[in-house]
Amino acid sequence: MTDTPPPFLPFARPDIGDAEIAAVTETLRSGWVTTGPKARTFEQAFTDYLGGNGLQSIAVNSATAGLHLALEALGIGPGDEVIAPTLTFTATVEVVRYLGADPVLVDVDPVTLNIDPEAIRAAITPATRAIMPVHYGGLACDMDAILAIAREHGLKVVEDAAHALPTTWQGRLVGQLDSDVTVFSFYANKTITTGEGGMAVTRDPKLAERMRVMRLHGMSRDAFDRFTSKTPAWYYEVVAPGFKYNLTDTAAALGLVQLQRLPQFLQRREHLAARYHAQLAGLPLVLPACAPTGDVHAWHLYVIRLAPDACMGRDALIQALSDRGIGTSVHYVPLHRHPYWRDRYGLAPEQFPQADAAYQAMLSLPLFTAMQDSDQDRVIAALREVLG
Ligand SMILES: *Cc1c(COP(=O)(O)O)cnc(C)c1O
Repeated sequence: MTDTPPPFLPFARPDIGDAEIAAVTETLRSGWVTTGPKARTFEQAFTDYLGGNGLQSIAVNSATAGLHLALEALGIGPGDEVIAPTLTFTATVEVVRYLGADPVLVDVDPVTLNIDPEAIRAAITPATRAIMPVHYGGLACDMDAILAIAREHGLKVVEDAAHALPTTWQGRLVGQLDSDVTVFSFYANKTITTGEGGMAVTRDPKLAERMRVMRLHGMSRDAFDRFTSKTPAWYYEVVAPGFKYNLTDTAAALGLVQLQRLPQFLQRREHLAARYHAQLAGLPLVLPACAPTGDVHAWHLYVIRLAPDACMGRDALIQALSDRGIGTSVHYVPLHRHPYWRDRYGLAPEQFPQADAAYQAMLSLPLFTAMQDSDQDRVIAALREVLG
């Protein structure tokens, strides 16, 4: 008799329970499945979660949509430049191209892997309009430095907070900082999920209004408003050529339950990250930076880097883990290495020494709330076996 091999451990998996299934079922039975009461309740709950304080939350069908709406509302257009890190997902900057503007990619800090404020400074030109920090893996960027640069040069700041729920910077939740718009993602592998979805958050009522109108075809009233209000239901006005970026009520129902579970989700992620930190300490690895004392790291990702003296390369390590039934990923192939960005802007790895070196040594270990300590023990044992 041979032992059956343990099941494949994925790198991430959504944590959807009976409460989510009940909430979605109730919405499906309610007769209202597109944007309506659940989406509104989700927006309010999200604002409340972040602590209110004049914030408005605009639910959208992806973070990509939210980032696009944010830049559109800020008036970004042809001839404008937007500074962003090269070590991010392409969504961060593809939206800059949607508007005919140009992203200017910069290097990251070698310790945090977040955008390097000095690199931002060096990239500013008369055409620069905005900065898009990405809170990589769930660790806050140096927002004091970034907001100071923005103020000094009259630039807008749109935070890509796809990894950053709930992340804090100097005790304040990301979403409550002094940027123009912050955008969260509820994609399947993020810290809470609606399947697909996102939330744009702002304290500026004009930006909020523009994003709401552009979220749904540039219409002055959405379907739910027309359904419930006393003025004639059939009447609306189109004020701009908008987009179709609204979040459905079925997705919002899922999100409402996930948001309630966020504190427990965070606890679980913190527990798993602490165990990785303790158990991987002696290996030839660079472990991910922790948040400064008193601040929260959302631990969306646990990104390790092979030390230069490790006995194998990154690709071989990914293969060795895969052979042992363990899934991993790489976050990210930096944008300067993708053909579109590389060729359009003539980018070379030498321009981004920190991000490029990190990329060649990095992999993301399994980290998700439904993962058991025993699952994690397998990952740790495999790393010890092949690297020890
Ligand atoms: C996931 C992600 C996005 C896009 O989120 P969607 O909700 O899938 O559109 C944007 N930026 C970063 C850094 C991401 O990880």
